[in-house]
Amino acid sequence: MIPKNHPRAKSLLVREKLVAGYEKGLVAKEGLIAHGRGEAFDYLLGEKTSKNAEKAIKTAALSLISAKSPVISVNGNVASLCAKEIIQLAKIINAKIEVNLFYANQKRKKRIARILKINGAKKVLGVDSKSAKKIPKLDSARRIVDTSGIYSADVILVPLEDGDRTLMLKKFGKKVITFDLNPLSRTAQTADITIVDDISRGMRKLIQICRKLKKSKVKQHNSFDNKRNLVEAVKEIKKNLEKRAIHA
Ligand code: ATP
Ligand code: MG
Repeated sequence: MIPKNHPRAKSLLVREKLVAGYEKGLVAKEGLIAHGRGEAFDYLLGEKTSKNAEKAIKTAALSLISAKSPVISVNGNVASLCAKEIIQLAKIINAKIEVNLFYANQKRKKRIARILKINGAKKVLGVDSKSAKKIPKLDSARRIVDTSGIYSADVILVPLEDGDRTLMLKKFGKKVITFDLNPLSRTAQTADITIVDDISRGMRKLIQICRKLKKSKVKQHNSFDNKRNLVEAVKEIKKNLEKRAIHA
């Protein structure tokens, strides 16, 4: 049990959720390591949603609301940390949900789909091999996606994704939105919109803003430069490091 007054209680609870996901067979071992890397950056970012993350969230919400066929790509980490939120977001933006694993494993895919369904998803793509399709002209074994999901999507939310796959989706002409706490990762650098925030924290904000925008029927896009926004994230880390060093 984590004491409520522990200074890092929220982050430790997120860690516990991921470990529980691993124990249920949703998360790969490598997923635990990826989370550790994310935690380290979250620590350096002060474990809060920064201004640049808020800006990226707003831009992402506008893109998702106005997309023709948005898809949310889910892996084991995402399903363990925010299954409920994924379903909420999918309903608001009218998105399809597709299970897409870096370390492909049919059993794990099915378990993830089940968790999503328990949390209210009516349909989960990416599990039935009959509707699988290969992204053309790419050799990677990981180019297999669902015909009516990622294959035909215009905007894809792919949180906590590997750089090679993000690059592949970009080459395939997709607009990519991601959550990635490391502003220097290849995914962060390749995506169109990178939300440098912990997914559990940032997803709730993304849902709030999508809800608001949907009601107000806003269609207009704000100006957004992903590279510049990532530089802001790096500056935030530097500022926090200096602040902590002074108080150390
Ligand atoms: P890349 O392949 O993009 O160069 P990488 O190989 O360092 O990055 P991966 O394991 O492929 O890392 O991707 C996972 C990414 O997700 C990492 O950049 C990690 O920092 C980030 N991440 C992990 N947990 C979270 C989380 N809870 N919220 C947001 N981002 C996270
Ligand atoms: Mg990687």
